[in-house]
Amino acid sequence: MQDISLLYNSVMKKIDAIYCDFDGTITKCDAVNKFFELYTGDKWLESEKLWIDGKISSMENAIIQVGLLPEISQKQLNDYVDNIEADQSFLDLVAYTKEKNIKFTILSDGFDLFIYKTLERLGIKNIPVYANHLIYENNKFKIEFPYHNENCDKKAGMCKCAKVKENKFCYIGDGTSDLCIAAKADMLFATKNLHKYCKENNIKHHYFETFSDIIRELEEGI
Ligand SMILES: [Mg+2]
Ligand SMILES: [Zn+2]
Repeated sequence: MQDISLLYNSVMKKIDAIYCDFDGTITKCDAVNKFFELYTGDKWLESEKLWIDGKISSMENAIIQVGLLPEISQKQLNDYVDNIEADQSFLDLVAYTKEKNIKFTILSDGFDLFIYKTLERLGIKNIPVYANHLIYENNKFKIEFPYHNENCDKKAGMCKCAKVKENKFCYIGDGTSDLCIAAKADMLFATKNLHKYCKENNIKHHYFETFSDIIRELEEGI
């Protein structure tokens, strides 16, 4: 009898896919915010506050902030993206999902350019990425929102909940861009502001500091 219930629990807990945020989750710092800080001083904070307070959407926020960027040379851009630092144990999680045949996808309300360059530098291939499209041309930037969804609860630039197809999935995130999906996950890993938000709103989650913590918990749960 006990064996059957153990088996039942393990089947119930089995997840089909992991969806993961990028900025502040895979990377140590938020690569988008740090970029604005570097190139606009504190100008970017005005609309950032309006977004956090729910007064404007993240799409409106991103358009305003990208509009504040000065002209930036290719070398300045390369120097920046070459120094986006990732959590070292992220590579272990990617290897773990490959070994266990779990689909791993990055969902980000940040910039695809930063994500692709970082993954390339880490030697990670074939991970699907859904993010806002940052266009760099003649030293200037433009942003497009290929995954915007008019019906998103949180009016995100990149609506994370619309991208999830599986019945049982795990989500990993750190902040405001994860709110539209966090409560829907079967297994939620939260850190930083998302952890705080989940605690305040009684959303069941596992706290994590690095991806090693997540691998440990997945090992116990799957
Ligand atoms: Mg984030
Ligand atoms: Zn959404």
